[in-house]
Amino acid sequence: MKKFIFACNFKMNVVDVEKYMEAMKDENYDNVIICPNFCDIREYTKLNKSNKVFIGAQNVSEFEKGAHTGEVSAEMLAKIGVQFCIVGHSERKKYNTETLIQTNEKVKRLIENNITPIICVGEELYSDPTKQEEYAVRYVLSELNEILKDIDINKVIIAYEPIWAIGSNNVASSQHIKTVLSAIKKYTNVEFTLYGGSFGEKNYEEIAMIDVVDGALIGGASLKPELICKMQKRVKELYE
Ligand code: PEP
Repeated sequence: MKKFIFACNFKMNVVDVEKYMEAMKDENYDNVIICPNFCDIREYTKLNKSNKVFIGAQNVSEFEKGAHTGEVSAEMLAKIGVQFCIVGHSERKKYNTETLIQTNEKVKRLIENNITPIICVGEELYSDPTKQEEYAVRYVLSELNEILKDIDINKVIIAYEPIWAIGSNNVASSQHIKTVLSAIKKYTNVEFTLYGGSFGEKNYEEIAMIDVVDGALIGGASLKPELICKMQKRVKELYE
């Protein structure tokens, strides 16, 4: 049976691990990846033990080690139990000027340390709305062309996050998501693709039913543990 991945990106927010513990009670959530801020990762490893949840990080250094003040290496993340890591998020590109070359290096460091990168790609709004889909495909494939240089495609997950859909309540249409994710799968051969951008209570059932969607990268809605649990249970039912 297909499993739908819920990758939760808390961003620079704090969600008390006890709230997740309470919401998850005794069930397993082995298709949920929680990516808290760096300081809370160790706390969240509790959930990995009790509920089989996977632990992720939101960023990593492109360097192995050394004089890089403020950076956290992939080896350090692996040591504390991180199994997944988001890279190339549009907020890092926008506010931290992360380049595609840096993202490519980060992916390499993660794979060297047996951490699965969740590679984010996505386009801005195009001047002609009737050509948004076409533009999106061209844009994300050109990003992936750089990011995936010398990378084993079997070791990564790709998250398609249209920038205009992130935190905007302006979710992409099912048709749009299907077109872009199909193109990503076709041209890269990647097995797992996620959709991200205002995914939540109002749209999760429809998105989960798109055949090329293997899961979601979730910002705002992931700050509500009960909602994540509710969506996870319902999607399981839909897949049965
Ligand atoms: C994100 O930032 O990765 C994201 C998808 O955020 P939101 O779900 O809030 O749109």
